[in-house]
Amino acid sequence: MNTILQQDLNEIENILEKVKQQGIHFLESIDTIPTSNNNTITTNRDLSNSGLGALPTLEEFNRRLAPLMVSQTGGRYWGFVTGGSTPASIVGDWLTTIYDQNAQATNAQGGVSALIEIETINLLLQLLSLPKIFLGGFVTGATMSNFTCLAVARQWFGKQLGEDFAKNGISQPIQVLSAMPHSSSVKCLAMLGIGSQNFTKIETIEGNREAIDIADLERNIKKINGRPFILISSAGTVNTADFDDFTAITKLKRKYNFWWHIDAAFGGFAACSPKYKHLVNGWDNSDSITVDCHKWLNVPYESAFYLVKEEHRNLQIETFQNSNAPYLGNPLENFNYLNFLPENSRRLKALPVWFSLLAYGKHGYQDIVENSVVMALQFDDFICKNENFELLAPTRLNNVCFTLAGDHNQEKVNSFLTKLNDRGKVFMTPTVYQNRKGIRASFVNWRTNENDIQIVIAEMKESLLLI
Ligand SMILES: *Cc1c(COP(=O)(O)O)cnc(C)c1O
Repeated sequence: MNTILQQDLNEIENILEKVKQQGIHFLESIDTIPTSNNNTITTNRDLSNSGLGALPTLEEFNRRLAPLMVSQTGGRYWGFVTGGSTPASIVGDWLTTIYDQNAQATNAQGGVSALIEIETINLLLQLLSLPKIFLGGFVTGATMSNFTCLAVARQWFGKQLGEDFAKNGISQPIQVLSAMPHSSSVKCLAMLGIGSQNFTKIETIEGNREAIDIADLERNIKKINGRPFILISSAGTVNTADFDDFTAITKLKRKYNFWWHIDAAFGGFAACSPKYKHLVNGWDNSDSITVDCHKWLNVPYESAFYLVKEEHRNLQIETFQNSNAPYLGNPLENFNYLNFLPENSRRLKALPVWFSLLAYGKHGYQDIVENSVVMALQFDDFICKNENFELLAPTRLNNVCFTLAGDHNQEKVNSFLTKLNDRGKVFMTPTVYQNRKGIRASFVNWRTNENDIQIVIAEMKESLLLI
Protein backbone atom coordinates (compact mmCIF):
# COMPACT_ATOMS: atom_id res chain seq x y z
CA MET A 1 0.00 0.00 0.00
CA ASN A 2 1.12 3.53 -0.74
CA THR A 3 2.74 4.87 2.43
CA ILE A 4 0.59 7.99 2.71
CA LEU A 5 -2.56 5.91 2.36
CA GLN A 6 -1.21 3.56 5.01
CA GLN A 7 -0.54 6.47 7.36
CA ASP A 8 -4.05 7.81 6.85
CA LEU A 9 -5.50 4.40 7.54
CA ASN A 10 -3.54 4.24 10.78
CA GLU A 11 -4.69 7.74 11.70
CA ILE A 12 -8.34 7.33 10.75
CA GLU A 13 -9.65 7.91 14.27
CA ASN A 14 -7.77 11.16 14.64
CA ILE A 15 -8.76 12.30 11.15
CA LEU A 16 -12.45 11.66 11.63
CA GLU A 17 -12.37 13.23 15.08
CA LYS A 18 -11.02 16.45 13.53
CA VAL A 19 -13.72 16.40 10.88
CA LYS A 20 -16.36 15.81 13.53
CA GLN A 21 -15.15 18.79 15.56
CA GLN A 22 -15.07 20.95 12.47
CA GLY A 23 -18.59 19.85 11.53
CA ILE A 24 -19.90 20.68 15.00
CA HIS A 25 -18.22 24.07 14.87
CA PHE A 26 -19.71 24.86 11.44
CA LEU A 27 -23.21 23.85 12.45
CA GLU A 28 -23.02 25.73 15.73
CA SER A 29 -21.90 28.91 13.97
CA ILE A 30 -24.36 28.62 11.11
CA ASP A 31 -26.26 31.75 12.15
CA THR A 32 -23.15 33.91 11.93
CA ILE A 33 -21.75 32.50 8.68
CA PRO A 34 -22.60 34.79 5.75
CA THR A 35 -25.24 33.70 3.25
CA SER A 36 -23.11 35.04 0.41
CA ASN A 37 -19.60 36.24 -0.36
CA ASN A 38 -17.90 37.56 -3.43
CA ASN A 39 -14.63 35.70 -3.01
CA THR A 40 -13.32 33.44 -5.71
CA ILE A 41 -10.46 30.99 -6.16
CA THR A 42 -8.06 30.68 -9.07
CA THR A 43 -9.02 27.03 -9.76
CA ASN A 44 -5.65 26.11 -11.26
CA ARG A 45 -3.95 24.33 -8.37
CA ASP A 46 -1.25 21.88 -9.47
CA LEU A 47 -1.56 18.21 -8.67
CA SER A 48 1.69 17.13 -7.02
CA ASN A 49 3.28 13.73 -7.46
CA SER A 50 3.23 12.78 -3.82
CA GLY A 51 0.07 13.53 -1.92
CA LEU A 52 -0.26 15.54 1.27
CA GLY A 53 -2.20 13.01 3.31
CA ALA A 54 -5.67 13.66 4.70
CA LEU A 55 -4.87 16.05 7.55
CA PRO A 56 -2.63 18.46 5.62
CA THR A 57 -5.24 18.38 2.87
CA LEU A 58 -7.85 19.29 5.44
CA GLU A 59 -5.61 22.18 6.46
CA GLU A 60 -5.43 23.40 2.89
CA PHE A 61 -9.19 23.05 2.54
CA ASN A 62 -9.64 25.07 5.72
CA ARG A 63 -7.22 27.72 4.57
CA ARG A 64 -8.41 28.15 0.98
CA LEU A 65 -11.91 26.78 0.57
CA ALA A 66 -13.81 26.49 3.84
CA PRO A 67 -13.89 30.28 4.37
CA LEU A 68 -15.73 30.58 1.05
CA MET A 69 -18.57 28.31 2.06
CA VAL A 70 -21.84 30.13 2.60
CA SER A 71 -24.56 29.17 5.04
CA GLN A 72 -26.87 27.61 2.48
CA THR A 73 -27.94 25.11 5.08
CA GLY A 74 -28.91 27.84 7.58
CA GLY A 75 -32.27 29.41 8.39
CA ARG A 76 -31.88 32.58 6.33
CA TYR A 77 -30.99 31.09 2.97
CA TRP A 78 -34.27 31.75 1.21
CA GLY A 79 -32.97 31.57 -2.34
CA PHE A 80 -34.22 28.99 -4.86
CA VAL A 81 -35.97 26.37 -2.71
CA THR A 82 -33.10 25.34 -0.48
CA GLY A 83 -33.56 22.97 2.43
CA GLY A 84 -31.09 22.29 5.19
CA SER A 85 -30.00 19.06 6.82
CA THR A 86 -31.65 17.70 9.94
CA PRO A 87 -29.26 16.19 12.51
CA ALA A 88 -30.46 12.64 11.81
CA SER A 89 -30.08 13.14 8.05
CA ILE A 90 -26.45 14.11 8.59
CA VAL A 91 -25.94 10.87 10.50
CA GLY A 92 -27.47 8.95 7.60
CA ASP A 93 -25.36 10.83 5.08
CA TRP A 94 -22.12 10.21 6.93
CA LEU A 95 -22.93 6.54 7.29
CA THR A 96 -23.78 6.31 3.60
CA THR A 97 -20.21 7.32 2.88
CA ILE A 98 -18.72 5.10 5.55
CA TYR A 99 -20.60 1.97 4.45
CA ASP A 100 -20.19 2.87 0.75
CA GLN A 101 -22.77 0.45 -0.63
CA ASN A 102 -23.87 0.18 -4.23
CA ALA A 103 -27.66 0.09 -4.02
CA GLN A 104 -28.96 -2.15 -6.77
CA ALA A 105 -30.46 -5.61 -6.41
CA THR A 106 -32.80 -6.86 -3.70
CA ASN A 107 -31.85 -10.50 -3.87
CA ALA A 108 -28.13 -10.52 -4.49
CA GLN A 109 -25.57 -11.36 -1.87
CA GLY A 110 -24.47 -7.74 -2.14
CA GLY A 111 -26.36 -6.58 0.92
CA VAL A 112 -29.75 -5.10 1.66
CA SER A 113 -29.19 -1.59 0.31
CA ALA A 114 -31.94 -1.83 -2.27
CA LEU A 115 -34.32 -3.17 0.37
CA ILE A 116 -33.47 -0.22 2.62
CA GLU A 117 -34.31 1.98 -0.34
CA ILE A 118 -37.65 0.26 -0.89
CA GLU A 119 -38.40 0.49 2.84
CA THR A 120 -37.62 4.21 2.68
CA ILE A 121 -39.91 4.71 -0.31
CA ASN A 122 -42.67 2.97 1.64
CA LEU A 123 -42.05 5.30 4.59
CA LEU A 124 -42.29 8.28 2.24
CA LEU A 125 -45.58 6.98 0.82
CA GLN A 126 -46.88 6.92 4.38
CA LEU A 127 -45.58 10.41 5.11
CA LEU A 128 -47.33 11.73 2.01
CA SER A 129 -50.49 9.59 2.48
CA LEU A 130 -50.02 7.96 -0.91
CA PRO A 131 -51.21 4.41 -1.60
CA LYS A 132 -48.74 1.58 -2.11
CA ILE A 133 -49.52 1.39 -5.80
CA PHE A 134 -46.45 3.41 -6.67
CA LEU A 135 -42.93 2.04 -7.04
CA GLY A 136 -40.16 4.48 -6.32
CA GLY A 137 -36.45 5.02 -6.15
CA PHE A 138 -33.87 7.68 -5.43
CA VAL A 139 -32.13 9.95 -7.90
CA THR A 140 -29.98 13.06 -7.48
CA GLY A 141 -32.69 15.71 -7.67
CA ALA A 142 -36.09 16.63 -9.02
CA THR A 143 -34.56 17.21 -12.44
CA MET A 144 -33.50 13.58 -12.67
CA SER A 145 -36.79 12.48 -11.17
CA ASN A 146 -38.70 14.40 -13.84
CA PHE A 147 -36.37 12.83 -16.40
CA THR A 148 -37.05 9.32 -15.11
CA CYS A 149 -40.82 9.79 -15.03
CA LEU A 150 -41.00 11.51 -18.41
CA ALA A 151 -38.79 8.84 -19.97
CA VAL A 152 -41.34 6.22 -18.92
CA ALA A 153 -44.11 8.51 -20.19
CA ARG A 154 -42.32 8.67 -23.54
CA GLN A 155 -42.23 4.89 -23.72
CA TRP A 156 -45.92 4.75 -22.80
CA PHE A 157 -46.71 7.23 -25.58
CA GLY A 158 -44.90 5.09 -28.17
CA LYS A 159 -46.71 1.96 -27.01
CA GLN A 160 -50.04 3.70 -27.53
CA LEU A 161 -49.07 3.98 -31.21
CA GLY A 162 -47.69 0.46 -31.36
CA GLU A 163 -44.07 1.67 -31.32
CA ASP A 164 -41.17 0.86 -29.00
CA PHE A 165 -39.28 4.17 -28.74
CA ALA A 166 -36.74 2.78 -26.28
CA LYS A 167 -35.66 0.17 -28.80
CA ASN A 168 -36.13 1.93 -32.10
CA GLY A 169 -35.92 5.61 -31.30
CA ILE A 170 -38.64 8.20 -31.57
CA SER A 171 -40.49 7.80 -34.83
CA GLN A 172 -43.41 10.13 -34.26
CA PRO A 173 -43.86 13.51 -32.58
CA ILE A 174 -44.74 13.23 -28.90
CA GLN A 175 -47.62 15.36 -27.74
CA VAL A 176 -46.98 17.13 -24.40
CA LEU A 177 -49.26 19.59 -22.62
CA SER A 178 -48.35 21.80 -19.67
CA ALA A 179 -49.21 25.18 -18.18
CA MET A 180 -46.25 26.08 -15.95
CA PRO A 181 -43.60 23.37 -16.34
CA HIS A 182 -40.55 23.92 -14.15
CA SER A 183 -37.48 24.76 -16.23
CA SER A 184 -36.08 21.34 -15.38
CA SER A 185 -39.03 19.61 -17.06
CA VAL A 186 -38.45 21.66 -20.18
CA LYS A 187 -34.80 20.62 -20.03
CA CYS A 188 -35.95 17.00 -19.74
CA LEU A 189 -37.98 17.38 -22.94
CA ALA A 190 -34.73 18.42 -24.63
CA MET A 191 -32.75 15.54 -23.09
CA LEU A 192 -35.45 13.03 -24.03
CA GLY A 193 -35.41 13.99 -27.71
CA ILE A 194 -38.94 15.35 -27.46
CA GLY A 195 -37.74 18.92 -27.88
CA SER A 196 -37.85 21.72 -25.35
CA GLN A 197 -40.21 23.76 -27.53
CA ASN A 198 -42.46 20.89 -28.41
CA PHE A 199 -45.10 21.23 -25.79
CA THR A 200 -48.45 22.94 -25.95
CA LYS A 201 -48.68 25.70 -23.41
CA ILE A 202 -52.01 25.59 -21.65
CA GLU A 203 -53.32 28.82 -20.16
CA THR A 204 -53.21 29.44 -16.45
CA ILE A 205 -56.29 30.42 -14.49
CA GLU A 206 -57.10 34.04 -15.06
CA GLY A 207 -55.97 36.53 -12.44
CA ASN A 208 -53.04 36.10 -10.18
CA ARG A 209 -52.61 32.37 -10.65
CA GLU A 210 -50.05 29.93 -12.00
CA ALA A 211 -52.32 26.88 -11.96
CA ILE A 212 -53.62 25.28 -15.12
CA ASP A 213 -56.90 26.51 -16.58
CA ILE A 214 -58.90 23.28 -16.74
CA ALA A 215 -61.28 24.57 -19.41
CA ASP A 216 -58.36 25.49 -21.67
CA LEU A 217 -56.77 22.14 -20.95
CA GLU A 218 -59.92 20.34 -22.07
CA ARG A 219 -60.19 22.54 -25.18
CA ASN A 220 -56.67 21.49 -26.14
CA ILE A 221 -57.32 17.85 -25.35
CA LYS A 222 -60.30 17.94 -27.73
CA LYS A 223 -58.07 19.36 -30.46
CA ILE A 224 -55.78 16.37 -30.05
CA ASN A 225 -58.75 14.32 -31.08
CA GLY A 226 -58.37 11.08 -29.18
CA ARG A 227 -54.63 10.68 -29.68
CA PRO A 228 -52.50 10.00 -26.59
CA PHE A 229 -50.55 12.76 -24.86
CA ILE A 230 -48.45 13.52 -21.79
CA LEU A 231 -49.60 16.08 -19.22
CA ILE A 232 -46.99 17.70 -16.97
CA SER A 233 -48.70 19.33 -14.02
CA SER A 234 -47.48 21.22 -10.96
CA ALA A 235 -47.81 20.70 -7.25
CA GLY A 236 -46.12 23.92 -6.22
CA THR A 237 -44.82 26.36 -8.84
CA VAL A 238 -41.54 27.95 -7.81
CA ASN A 239 -42.67 31.57 -7.92
CA THR A 240 -45.93 31.39 -6.04
CA ALA A 241 -46.38 27.77 -4.90
CA ASP A 242 -49.54 27.37 -6.93
CA PHE A 243 -51.11 23.93 -7.41
CA ASP A 244 -52.99 22.52 -10.38
CA ASP A 245 -56.43 21.17 -9.55
CA PHE A 246 -55.79 17.45 -9.27
CA THR A 247 -59.43 16.59 -8.62
CA ALA A 248 -60.40 18.20 -11.92
CA ILE A 249 -57.49 16.52 -13.73
CA THR A 250 -58.59 13.19 -12.26
CA LYS A 251 -61.98 13.66 -13.96
CA LEU A 252 -60.27 14.35 -17.28
CA LYS A 253 -58.09 11.31 -16.79
CA ARG A 254 -61.21 9.16 -16.66
CA LYS A 255 -62.34 10.60 -20.02
CA TYR A 256 -59.13 10.84 -22.04
CA ASN A 257 -56.06 8.75 -22.67
CA PHE A 258 -52.98 10.47 -21.27
CA TRP A 259 -49.95 10.00 -19.05
CA TRP A 260 -50.26 12.28 -16.07
CA HIS A 261 -47.04 13.45 -14.46
CA ILE A 262 -46.92 15.70 -11.39
CA ASP A 263 -43.86 17.74 -10.47
CA ALA A 264 -44.30 17.94 -6.71
CA ALA A 265 -40.66 18.73 -5.99
CA PHE A 266 -41.41 20.74 -2.88
CA GLY A 267 -45.21 21.12 -2.96
CA GLY A 268 -45.77 17.42 -2.32
CA PHE A 269 -44.91 18.05 1.31
CA ALA A 270 -48.19 19.92 1.69
CA ALA A 271 -49.48 16.38 2.27
CA CYS A 272 -47.69 16.35 5.66
CA SER A 273 -50.11 18.85 7.16
CA PRO A 274 -53.87 18.47 7.69
CA LYS A 275 -54.06 22.20 6.95
CA TYR A 276 -52.58 21.99 3.46
CA LYS A 277 -53.05 18.45 2.25
CA HIS A 278 -56.18 19.45 0.31
CA LEU A 279 -53.77 21.06 -2.17
CA VAL A 280 -52.75 17.61 -3.39
CA ASN A 281 -56.18 15.97 -3.28
CA GLY A 282 -56.43 13.52 -6.17
CA TRP A 283 -52.68 13.36 -6.91
CA ASP A 284 -52.72 9.61 -6.28
CA ASN A 285 -54.54 9.26 -9.62
CA SER A 286 -51.47 10.39 -11.54
CA ASP A 287 -49.09 8.01 -13.32
CA SER A 288 -45.89 9.48 -11.96
CA ILE A 289 -44.75 11.97 -9.33
CA THR A 290 -41.50 13.83 -8.67
CA VAL A 291 -40.54 14.76 -5.11
CA ASP A 292 -37.32 16.39 -3.91
CA CYS A 293 -35.89 15.45 -0.52
CA HIS A 294 -33.10 18.02 -0.41
CA LYS A 295 -35.75 20.74 -0.22
CA TRP A 296 -38.56 20.43 2.31
CA LEU A 297 -37.51 17.08 3.73
CA ASN A 298 -34.29 18.81 4.80
CA VAL A 299 -31.74 16.15 3.94
CA PRO A 300 -28.37 16.87 2.28
CA TYR A 301 -27.96 17.14 -1.49
CA GLU A 302 -28.37 15.00 -3.68
CA SER A 303 -31.70 13.48 -2.81
CA ALA A 304 -34.98 13.13 -4.65
CA PHE A 305 -37.26 10.28 -5.62
CA TYR A 306 -39.58 9.35 -8.42
CA LEU A 307 -42.85 7.49 -8.05
CA VAL A 308 -44.25 5.56 -10.99
CA LYS A 309 -47.45 3.49 -10.77
CA GLU A 310 -46.68 -0.18 -10.37
CA GLU A 311 -48.88 -0.96 -13.38
CA HIS A 312 -46.25 0.73 -15.56
CA ARG A 313 -43.42 -1.44 -14.27
CA ASN A 314 -42.76 -3.06 -17.63
CA LEU A 315 -42.66 0.27 -19.45
CA GLN A 316 -40.10 1.46 -16.92
CA ILE A 317 -37.97 -1.62 -17.43
CA GLU A 318 -38.20 -1.27 -21.22
CA THR A 319 -36.93 2.29 -20.81
CA PHE A 320 -34.02 1.66 -18.47
CA GLN A 321 -33.03 -1.99 -18.68
CA ASN A 322 -29.43 -3.03 -19.15
CA SER A 323 -30.47 -5.71 -21.59
CA ASN A 324 -27.06 -6.73 -22.92
CA ALA A 325 -25.42 -7.65 -19.63
CA PRO A 326 -26.34 -11.29 -18.96
CA TYR A 327 -24.83 -11.29 -15.45
CA LEU A 328 -27.53 -8.85 -14.39
CA GLY A 329 -30.23 -11.45 -14.92
CA ASN A 330 -33.76 -11.12 -16.23
CA PRO A 331 -35.04 -7.66 -15.20
CA LEU A 332 -38.58 -8.93 -14.91
CA GLU A 333 -37.60 -11.60 -12.41
CA ASN A 334 -34.73 -10.06 -10.50
CA PHE A 335 -35.44 -6.61 -9.21
CA ASN A 336 -32.51 -4.29 -9.66
CA TYR A 337 -32.64 -0.52 -9.50
CA LEU A 338 -30.33 -0.22 -12.48
CA ASN A 339 -33.20 -1.40 -14.67
CA PHE A 340 -35.52 1.32 -13.38
CA LEU A 341 -33.59 4.57 -13.56
CA PRO A 342 -30.74 6.34 -15.37
CA GLU A 343 -27.80 5.39 -13.15
CA ASN A 344 -26.22 1.98 -12.76
CA SER A 345 -23.88 2.31 -9.79
CA ARG A 346 -25.41 4.48 -7.10
CA ARG A 347 -24.78 5.29 -3.47
CA LEU A 348 -27.30 4.42 -0.77
CA LYS A 349 -29.11 7.74 -1.19
CA ALA A 350 -32.07 6.51 0.84
CA LEU A 351 -30.19 6.35 4.13
CA PRO A 352 -30.26 10.06 5.14
CA VAL A 353 -34.00 10.07 4.38
CA TRP A 354 -34.52 6.84 6.32
CA PHE A 355 -32.75 8.33 9.33
CA SER A 356 -34.65 11.58 9.23
CA LEU A 357 -38.05 9.92 8.80
CA LEU A 358 -37.47 7.54 11.69
CA ALA A 359 -36.01 10.26 13.87
CA TYR A 360 -38.76 12.86 13.44
CA GLY A 361 -41.80 10.95 12.22
CA LYS A 362 -44.97 12.35 10.74
CA HIS A 363 -45.29 15.01 13.42
CA GLY A 364 -41.75 16.23 12.93
CA TYR A 365 -42.43 16.86 9.27
CA GLN A 366 -45.83 18.32 9.91
CA ASP A 367 -44.10 20.80 12.25
CA ILE A 368 -41.42 21.66 9.68
CA VAL A 369 -44.01 22.27 6.96
CA GLU A 370 -46.37 24.27 9.15
CA ASN A 371 -43.56 26.32 10.66
CA SER A 372 -42.30 27.18 7.16
CA VAL A 373 -45.74 28.48 6.23
CA VAL A 374 -45.99 30.51 9.45
CA MET A 375 -42.60 32.06 8.67
CA ALA A 376 -43.66 32.80 5.09
CA LEU A 377 -46.81 34.50 6.37
CA GLN A 378 -44.89 36.60 8.90
CA PHE A 379 -42.62 37.79 6.12
CA ASP A 380 -45.66 38.32 3.89
CA ASP A 381 -47.18 40.46 6.62
CA PHE A 382 -44.11 42.71 6.64
CA ILE A 383 -44.22 43.06 2.83
CA CYS A 384 -47.89 44.00 2.93
CA LYS A 385 -47.49 46.56 5.67
CA ASN A 386 -44.32 48.25 4.47
CA GLU A 387 -45.07 50.88 1.83
CA ASN A 388 -41.77 50.25 0.02
CA PHE A 389 -42.76 46.74 -1.01
CA GLU A 390 -45.66 44.97 -2.60
CA LEU A 391 -46.62 41.36 -3.13
CA LEU A 392 -46.66 40.07 -6.69
CA ALA A 393 -48.98 37.22 -5.74
CA PRO A 394 -50.76 36.08 -2.62
CA THR A 395 -48.66 33.79 -0.44
CA ARG A 396 -50.32 30.42 -0.88
CA LEU A 397 -47.90 28.24 1.03
CA ASN A 398 -44.20 28.77 1.63
CA ASN A 399 -42.99 31.05 -1.17
CA VAL A 400 -43.31 34.83 -0.95
CA CYS A 401 -43.10 36.59 -4.31
CA PHE A 402 -42.76 40.35 -4.00
CA THR A 403 -41.16 43.45 -5.46
CA LEU A 404 -40.39 47.08 -4.76
CA ALA A 405 -43.64 49.02 -4.70
CA GLY A 406 -44.58 50.93 -7.84
CA ASP A 407 -43.69 50.42 -11.49
CA HIS A 408 -41.23 53.33 -11.36
CA ASN A 409 -39.05 51.23 -9.05
CA GLN A 410 -38.82 48.26 -11.41
CA GLU A 411 -35.32 49.14 -12.55
CA LYS A 412 -34.13 49.22 -8.94
CA VAL A 413 -35.29 45.73 -8.02
CA ASN A 414 -32.12 43.93 -9.03
CA SER A 415 -29.78 46.43 -7.40
CA PHE A 416 -31.83 46.27 -4.21
CA LEU A 417 -31.57 42.49 -4.20
CA THR A 418 -27.83 42.58 -4.91
CA LYS A 419 -27.30 44.98 -2.01
CA LEU A 420 -29.44 42.84 0.26
CA ASN A 421 -27.73 39.58 -0.67
CA ASP A 422 -24.27 41.18 -0.48
CA ARG A 423 -24.83 41.99 3.17
CA GLY A 424 -24.71 38.25 3.79
CA LYS A 425 -27.52 37.98 6.32
CA VAL A 426 -30.11 36.58 3.95
CA PHE A 427 -30.22 35.24 0.43
CA MET A 428 -33.17 35.54 -1.96
CA THR A 429 -33.58 34.88 -5.68
CA PRO A 430 -34.57 37.28 -8.45
CA THR A 431 -37.53 36.33 -10.60
CA VAL A 432 -39.87 37.70 -13.22
CA TYR A 433 -43.54 37.25 -12.50
CA GLN A 434 -46.21 38.29 -14.98
CA ASN A 435 -43.70 40.56 -16.74
CA ARG A 436 -42.58 42.30 -13.59
CA LYS A 437 -39.21 41.97 -11.93
CA GLY A 438 -39.57 40.46 -8.53
CA ILE A 439 -37.89 38.69 -5.66
CA ARG A 440 -38.66 35.30 -4.25
CA ALA A 441 -38.22 34.17 -0.68
CA SER A 442 -38.75 30.47 -0.19
CA PHE A 443 -39.27 28.96 3.25
CA VAL A 444 -38.36 25.29 3.59
CA ASN A 445 -35.52 25.23 6.09
CA TRP A 446 -36.30 23.50 9.40
CA ARG A 447 -34.26 26.07 11.35
CA THR A 448 -35.96 29.29 10.26
CA ASN A 449 -37.48 31.14 13.22
CA GLU A 450 -39.06 34.48 14.13
CA ASN A 451 -35.72 35.97 14.99
CA ASP A 452 -34.58 35.27 11.44
CA ILE A 453 -37.59 37.13 10.09
CA GLN A 454 -36.78 40.13 12.30
CA ILE A 455 -33.14 40.11 11.18
CA VAL A 456 -34.19 40.06 7.53
CA ILE A 457 -36.71 42.86 8.00
CA ALA A 458 -33.99 45.06 9.49
CA GLU A 459 -31.64 44.13 6.63
CA MET A 460 -34.26 45.03 4.04
CA LYS A 461 -34.81 48.44 5.59
CA GLU A 462 -31.05 49.06 5.59
CA SER A 463 -30.72 47.93 1.98
CA LEU A 464 -33.43 50.36 0.88
CA LEU A 465 -31.17 53.18 2.02
CA LEU A 466 -28.39 51.91 -0.25
CA ILE A 467 -30.21 52.15 -3.59
C1 LIG B 1 -36.30 22.55 -7.48
C2 LIG B 1 -37.30 22.09 -8.44
C3 LIG B 1 -36.95 21.25 -9.51
C4 LIG B 1 -35.53 20.86 -9.81
O1 LIG B 1 -35.00 20.19 -8.74
P1 LIG B 1 -33.46 19.82 -8.56
O2 LIG B 1 -33.48 19.11 -7.27
O3 LIG B 1 -32.75 21.13 -8.50
O4 LIG B 1 -33.03 18.99 -9.70
C5 LIG B 1 -37.97 20.80 -10.32
N1 LIG B 1 -39.24 21.17 -10.12
C6 LIG B 1 -39.61 21.99 -9.12
C7 LIG B 1 -41.05 22.37 -8.95
C8 LIG B 1 -38.65 22.49 -8.23
O5 LIG B 1 -39.02 23.30 -7.24
